[in-house]
Amino acid sequence: MSGVADRIATRAVHAGHEPASHQGAAVPPLYASATFVAPDTATLEGLNDGSVRGYVYSRIRNPTVLAAEQRLASLEGAESAVLFSSGMAAVAGALAPLLAAGDELVATPDLYGGTLRYFTEVLPRQGVSVRLAASGAAEDVASCLSPATTVIYTETPTNPLLRIVDLAAMAGLARKHGARLVVDGTLGGPLNQTPLAQGADLVVHSASKYLNGHGDIIAGAVVGSRELTRRLRTLQQASGAILDPHPAWLLLRGMATYPLRMAQHNRGGEAVAAFLASHPKVLRVHYPGLASHPDHALACRQMTGFGGLMSFELADGVAARTVVDCTRLFGIGASLGGVESLISQPGNTSHHSVPTERRLAMGIAPGLVRISVGIEDPQDLIADLDQALAAIP
Ligand SMILES: *Cc1c(COP(=O)(O)O)cnc(C)c1O
Repeated sequence: MSGVADRIATRAVHAGHEPASHQGAAVPPLYASATFVAPDTATLEGLNDGSVRGYVYSRIRNPTVLAAEQRLASLEGAESAVLFSSGMAAVAGALAPLLAAGDELVATPDLYGGTLRYFTEVLPRQGVSVRLAASGAAEDVASCLSPATTVIYTETPTNPLLRIVDLAAMAGLARKHGARLVVDGTLGGPLNQTPLAQGADLVVHSASKYLNGHGDIIAGAVVGSRELTRRLRTLQQASGAILDPHPAWLLLRGMATYPLRMAQHNRGGEAVAAFLASHPKVLRVHYPGLASHPDHALACRQMTGFGGLMSFELADGVAARTVVDCTRLFGIGASLGGVESLISQPGNTSHHSVPTERRLAMGIAPGLVRISVGIEDPQDLIADLDQALAAIP
């Protein structure tokens, strides 16, 4: 296993796996077993009361899932990570120990559509009130806080407008109010940003995106201190939204190349954003790596790379539809963070479940196109977008 001093690309390959503990297997094996048998009753009793370390049942603990959790914790520089069956299960799981009936969650407004849905359709039914700040600015969040606020929740960069939330400022507010700061860091990932180092209590990931990177699993994760993750793991075991060992094994493999892939997403993202920004038919490009982005200075302070996700505005919905339909290398679809490039209109994918009026208020115009730049050669992606833009009537 890797040491704490190793750099991220080394930890990505070695953390969570000790060949000597697995018959010398060079890479982590898949423990596809629901249950684990004990040699005798005394051992089983020891496993149950915790005096013997081992495995009993895969909803409680599984060696493959544990290896993936250790690898992720190492990538994030965190004490601990807990994997979930999806990113949404991770959002719910992170909040479960922090919110009870009567508590209040204050969130920045530009959130993943599924998260907004959870905040408006699920949490209020459990007696938790949710307040969305007017913007992601610290003063707007501060003005929403009340004595009932136990959680400040934010997402950075945001989807699909790639706004950057000042994590140090949010952490300061949370500390002052005795609240916890929970950050959805899916769009950044540990190569590009480290919210825990900036004061976040928990970081949530949809591991379906950059961490796995190959678009072949749905998974989620929460990382943070041992103390906080222990509480949410207990609730996870009780409610059951664990990750099965099969996707955990794919995630382990995906994370081995995460730093390599992310570096290519960063390079491709910068090249494609620069091309779009210079194109006469593109009204505006939302990418934090561009000097024209409203949060560029903050992004430079808080991030070490800007990723592969961006959006851009065309004159209207017809132009957007034309570009989406005329690209050849970009698959039309939701999701992001995979090796393959994707293109979509956020209004009918990621923010489909957000009412139209609220969508427009969020700045999601009909001419908005979102792209997830994969790890293909950026010059090919640029040539493809160029011919698609030329097709706008
Ligand atoms: C995809 C996504 C989620 C939800 O993750 P799933 O794995 O699809 O459940 C949450 N937050 C962000 C920012 C996402 O992009």
